[in-house]
Amino acid sequence: MTVTDDRATAEDQVRARVADLLAAHDPARTTATEFLGARFDAGLAWVWFPEGLGGLGLRQELQGVVERELRLAGAPNEAERNVIGYGMGAPTVLTHGTDAQRRRYLRPLFTCEEIWCQLFSEPGSGSDVAGLATRAVRDGDEWVVTGQKVWTTLAHTARFGMLLARTDPDVPKHRGMTYFVVDMHAPGVEVRPLRQMTGDAEFNEVFFTDVRIPDSERLDEVGAGWRVATTTLMNERVAIGGGVPSRSSGPIHEALEIYRATPGRSEVERDRLMQVWVAAEVQRLTNMRARELRRAGTPGPEGSVAKLAGAELNQRVYELCVDLMGMEGTLYPSHYEMRRPERAGFGNEDARHSFLRSRANSIEGGTSEIMRNILGERVLGLPGEPRADKDLPWSQVPRS
Ligand SMILES: Cc1cc2nc3c(=O)[nH]c(=O)nc-3n(C[C@H](O)[C@H](O)[C@H](O)COP(=O)(O)OP(=O)(O)OC[C@H]3O[C@@H](n4cnc5c(N)ncnc54)[C@H](O)[C@@H]3O)c2cc1C
Repeated sequence: MTVTDDRATAEDQVRARVADLLAAHDPARTTATEFLGARFDAGLAWVWFPEGLGGLGLRQELQGVVERELRLAGAPNEAERNVIGYGMGAPTVLTHGTDAQRRRYLRPLFTCEEIWCQLFSEPGSGSDVAGLATRAVRDGDEWVVTGQKVWTTLAHTARFGMLLARTDPDVPKHRGMTYFVVDMHAPGVEVRPLRQMTGDAEFNEVFFTDVRIPDSERLDEVGAGWRVATTTLMNERVAIGGGVPSRSSGPIHEALEIYRATPGRSEVERDRLMQVWVAAEVQRLTNMRARELRRAGTPGPEGSVAKLAGAELNQRVYELCVDLMGMEGTLYPSHYEMRRPERAGFGNEDARHSFLRSRANSIEGGTSEIMRNILGERVLGLPGEPRADKDLPWSQVPRS
């Protein structure tokens, strides 16, 4: 059945497809992997992707219909285990991969048989990721990679990494990078945990020592790494800040629950709660509007604005939560044991844990200062900041 994009018809047909999927694969009697595979094959993984690649070529907003219906039916959803794969890996492979790469990677990514991570940041290159130093040198049909990455979320569960590496040091930094899909189980890849202030080690250092990557696992042209990375980064910002939860759900729901748990709250507490509730609702509606305007392709600067606003909102909500908890808010809900989580970010955690985790929101996926630079330059049209090294060959740029 080919699905048309007439709005009402498309929605009915999406509902019919979901019903067919559920009838053929009862969630109560099907494994998560099997169910997700069938969902991908039915074009219900990402409805705005092309047919045959997990989608139906429809508007992205119709994805909400799929998610809602499947949630109500109790269908398995493993997205939290593969946040980077879903949010960034899939759109990057779709936009820049060959047909063979799309067919190889997208389905097992969606079923979570293969988890993905993002290998961009280095000890000397975070905000200035284009200054990175990990080298990839061509050797016949392979590339040999040496260097170090850092803050690599879920590298410990990942099968594949999105690797940005320097392939030509003698041209300006943005032009000398190439983008690869690297097998995290390949010889020479070493993953070491980094513990955050929550006690968890969601992220890692990753060391590459003479790691061989077949040229067939390069995404897009040699030297086009920055273009590919931009697709990843723009999608990352939407994945982090662009969600459209239902009204009063998520962090703001936690704040409401904590507020209600103690009778006789003061006017000041109620006022603070209402202020963040309104901010959460404005963020939700703004993201909804942005999602409806975005049909397909790489998101624009609205993703960076959403990421900035979402980070500040999350921090405000969890500050309020611990304040509303009073003295309880100063206690930690665990013995601070080291954990290696299988998912990153938030979800059903104690608000005190989330309060600490939310501090990272204004750093991960690009800091709030960098988001403000993008907002200033690309939305408000303000002059760009001076970039003295922009036209210098990377090898001539002084670095520590
Ligand atoms: C929880 C978490 C998960 C992460 N996961 C990943 C991951 O999976 N993969 C990955 O590759 N990276 C990951 N990161 C790394 C993240 O992208 C970087 O930390 C971030 O881009 C900032 O880089 P940096 O830490 O090197 O700080 P720096 O770039 O050194 O910045 C230091 C300070 O200077 C400010 N600053 C820097 N440049 C400018 C400028 N031009 N204008 C104004 N202010 C500026 C910054 O805002 C910041 O306050 C993660 C980080 C966190 C916290």
